[in-house]
Amino acid sequence: MIYKPFQDLKLSALGMGAMRLPVIGGDDGKIDEKAAADMVAWAMEHGVNYYDTAWGYHNGQSELVMGRALKAYPREQFYLATKFPGYDLANMDKVEEIFQEQLRKCAVDYFDFYLFHNVCEMNIDAYLDPKYGIYDYLMEQKKNGRIRHLGFSAHGSYDVMKRFLEAYGNDMEFCQIQLNYLDWSFQDAKGKVKLLKEYHIPVWVMEPLRGGKLASLQPEDEAALKALRPEEKVPAWAFRFLQSIPEVTMILSGMSNMEQMQENIRTFEEEKPLSAKEQETLLAIADGMVNKIALPCTACRYCTSHCPQGLDIPGLLALYNEHCFTGGGFLAPMALSAIPKDKWPSACVGCRSCEAVCPQQIKISEAMADFTSKLEG
Ligand code: SF4
Ligand code: SF4
Repeated sequence: MIYKPFQDLKLSALGMGAMRLPVIGGDDGKIDEKAAADMVAWAMEHGVNYYDTAWGYHNGQSELVMGRALKAYPREQFYLATKFPGYDLANMDKVEEIFQEQLRKCAVDYFDFYLFHNVCEMNIDAYLDPKYGIYDYLMEQKKNGRIRHLGFSAHGSYDVMKRFLEAYGNDMEFCQIQLNYLDWSFQDAKGKVKLLKEYHIPVWVMEPLRGGKLASLQPEDEAALKALRPEEKVPAWAFRFLQSIPEVTMILSGMSNMEQMQENIRTFEEEKPLSAKEQETLLAIADGMVNKIALPCTACRYCTSHCPQGLDIPGLLALYNEHCFTGGGFLAPMALSAIPKDKWPSACVGCRSCEAVCPQQIKISEAMADFTSKLEG
C-alpha cells in the first residue's frame, strides 16, 4: 500500500468509501453486514487505514455498519471520517444533535476527519449563516478533541467553493472533490485543484471512476490504452491519472464487493504516474466521451441578453450536459433547487431568440424542453 503524509499522519493513498457497500436484495438500506465486515477486514489486512462514511449513506445505515465493523480493531489502527449532512437544509439547526448521534452510531469518542458535506449552490448561504452555528460548533469539537481534522466536500461550482474558502478556508485542512480524468475539464476539477492549492489544502478524491463509468470504455479507447500499457486494466488508468496529480492525498473508492476491493488494493501497491503522452491520450478519450453526449456550449453568453425569460442559458446547458452524461443523478436537481423556479429550463417559452445568435448553433429550446422532461421523468 502506498502511504501519503498528512500533517503528522501517514494515510493509505486508497480509502474505503462506505456509500456503495454490498446490499441485500437491491435495497440500499439493507447492507449485507457480513460482506461489508469481510471487506473491512481485507482492507485492514492490506494496509487501508482510512474509512469514509456519512450520515445519509445507505439511508443512515452506513455509519452504523461501519461503526460495528471497525469496533473489532484498535481505535488507533484506523482513521474514520464522517460528515455533517448539510445537503438537507432541514438539518442546519441540528448540528449538535446530529454530531452526538453520529458518535453513537459509529461507536467512537472522536472522528479523525469530519466534513461539511456537499457544499453547493443549494446550501452555501446556510452553511455561511452564523445563525445556525455549524462552523462554531465544529470548531469547538476540534478544540475539545472530538474532531481531529476538519474539512469539507464540494459538489458545487468553482465559485461556490471559492465563497466557502473565503469564509472558512483558513480552518479547512482538506477538501473532498469529484475528480477523475473525465471531470478534469468537464466539471473543472483542474480549476478546483488549483484553487485548493492556493489555500494549501490537500485534495481528497471522490468518484475516481465516476460511479463506475470509467471502469470500462469503448473498445477502441481500451485498445489505445492497452497499446501504451499492456498490463494495466481500464479502471487502474483512472487511479494512475490521480497518482499523477501531486495535490492528491487521498483517493476514496466506494467499493461494492470484494473483487473490486482486491483489484483496487493491487493498483495501490505502487505508484505508476502517467507520462505526458499517456495523460494526453487519456484526456483525449475523456473529451471524446463528453463530446458524444454534451452540447458544445462555450459559455460565451451571447445568447443571454436575448432571452425574454432572463434564463442563465450557459449555466442551464452545463447542468443539462451533466445530467445527460450521468444519465440522471442528483447534481443538476440539487443545483436547480438553489435558483427560483422561473429561471428553470421549464420557464423557456421556445421563442428561439437565443438560437439566432448562438455561434455554436445549439438547439437551445430543444435542450430546455428535453431537460424539463428528463427532470420530470
Ligand atoms: S428559446 Fe427559451 S432559452 Fe432561448 S431565448 Fe427563448 S425562452 Fe430563452
Ligand atoms: S450563445 Fe451558444 S455557446 Fe454561447 S453561451 Fe449561449 S448557448 Fe452557449
